[in-house]
Amino acid sequence: MNRKNFLRLSGLATLSIMSLSTLYSSSRNWKKGPKQAVLFLGHGSPMNAIEENEFVKAWRQTGQNIPQPRAIVCISAHWETAGTMVTAMPKPKTIHDFGGFPRALHEVEYPAPGDPELAGAIADGLAEYEIKLDHKWGLDHGTWSVIKHLYPEAKIPVIQLSIDYRKGPEYHYQLAQALSDIRERGVLIISSGNMVHNLGLTAWDRLNEQFAYDWATEAQAKMRELLFSGNDKALINFRKQGKAFDLAIPSTEHFIPLIYSLGLKDAKEDLRIFNDKPVAGALTMTSVQFG
Ligand code: ZN
Repeated sequence: MNRKNFLRLSGLATLSIMSLSTLYSSSRNWKKGPKQAVLFLGHGSPMNAIEENEFVKAWRQTGQNIPQPRAIVCISAHWETAGTMVTAMPKPKTIHDFGGFPRALHEVEYPAPGDPELAGAIADGLAEYEIKLDHKWGLDHGTWSVIKHLYPEAKIPVIQLSIDYRKGPEYHYQLAQALSDIRERGVLIISSGNMVHNLGLTAWDRLNEQFAYDWATEAQAKMRELLFSGNDKALINFRKQGKAFDLAIPSTEHFIPLIYSLGLKDAKEDLRIFNDKPVAGALTMTSVQFG
């Protein structure tokens, strides 16, 4: 028996129907429906929020091709905290968490509502993970710069789940597994990062050029191969994959969102990889859809 099924049977650490009773007794329709997809989106430069290019186009098409969710949970590389937090405000603000970009980017607002009810159910249902309700954050650019293209009308509620920077990848994988039940309740879970992301080696003067340094090409190919072969273990153990991976993942925050997607998927679900292109030598825009 794998860990996930064991936890299901023992009633531990999984968002069960019982633990989500607050949600299901509410007036909103949280009934079981078609299982939502799992998305990892390589977000790249914040300028993608306002530029038109092939990456943005693929995000938009993805939004049109998957079932319309009732709510979205986003795990963004740009919200790391001590302990896991979930945004619980009714109207999350648009956070412009970057500097040195044109005014037009700073003026972007993404006024999607929050979902305090869903946030509360996640915190209650996953009590073992001690998820705290947050009333201060909002939507950072890892979230709005991509979701804006999937759902431009900003009508679907969006909440964020933070990344506990004190924890290792195995912990994030297990937390994602525990969260996966809500996929069947109309909740789309998006994680937003970049699989290859080395800002120290990025060619900043060539941001719009699609090219990769040798190590980035090597890491990109190996990541793709591990995804297609379903080798979650090797991806979780990314620190043991050699020099190309070490250069691709100099810090973990942009890679951990991928670990969430791996934990959320089912083993037999279809995998689609798109936007699998390098940018500026040391970044990849690779995006992944399960289901
Ligand atoms: Zn980023």
